[in-house]
Amino acid sequence: MIAILLGAPGSGKGTQSKTLSAKYGFKHLATGDIFRGEIAAKSTLGLKAQEYVKSGKLVPDNLVTEMVAGKLQIDGSKYLLDGFPRNLEQAQSLDKFLTPQKAAIDVVVYLNLPHPEAIKRLTSRRVCAKCGEVYNLMTRPPAAEGKCDACGGDVVQREDDTEATAKKRLMVFEDLTHPLVAYYKAEQVFHEIDAAKSPEAVAAELCAIVDQVGAAK
Ligand code: AMP
Repeated sequence: MIAILLGAPGSGKGTQSKTLSAKYGFKHLATGDIFRGEIAAKSTLGLKAQEYVKSGKLVPDNLVTEMVAGKLQIDGSKYLLDGFPRNLEQAQSLDKFLTPQKAAIDVVVYLNLPHPEAIKRLTSRRVCAKCGEVYNLMTRPPAAEGKCDACGGDVVQREDDTEATAKKRLMVFEDLTHPLVAYYKAEQVFHEIDAAKSPEAVAAELCAIVDQVGAAK
């Protein structure tokens, strides 16, 4: 099964992907996480991507699609794509990659969140620099300020979660990624969820969709 979570930064794609991967055994392919890992490792790809990621711009398509194609093995595994595709060119590249392998996207879920709420979530988001655990200063702060509950690592703000960069990322989403809603709506695979609901309520709706898709396969 190939599933895509579509949504603005802050709409909960990462959180929901973790829940779905744990429940259904999806391989979670989060392009933002992969780029942050490559940047931390100072790899060639990381060095090429870092200025884009830091400033909230999209990394050039050729770098992204090559990286995803290298990780997506059509071998019966279940994949959950989080943060990819992010524009029409990437969506078309994905189709071109899947079709010759007789594979197709099974489900696209759009987590729809109003931008003011996304800004609130992004600017109050904090992450553990060591293990990647995600916190939110308003709804889920770490027990000890600045320290991860899970591993004791430093809890920090992502460089691109500052208000100015978060706003820029939302503009990029609106201009380049939101058109994918229409692109996938034209197909049978599209679903939409109100992402302003609680993480538990969103997860319940997502699981119902995945169960329905799995049963039909
Ligand atoms: P995210 O963690 O999904 O919010 O992504 C963080 C940043 O990584 C984005 O602002 C982009 O700079 C970069 N990025 C992640 N996924 C993609 C993609 N599919 N295409 C281009 N850039 C991406």
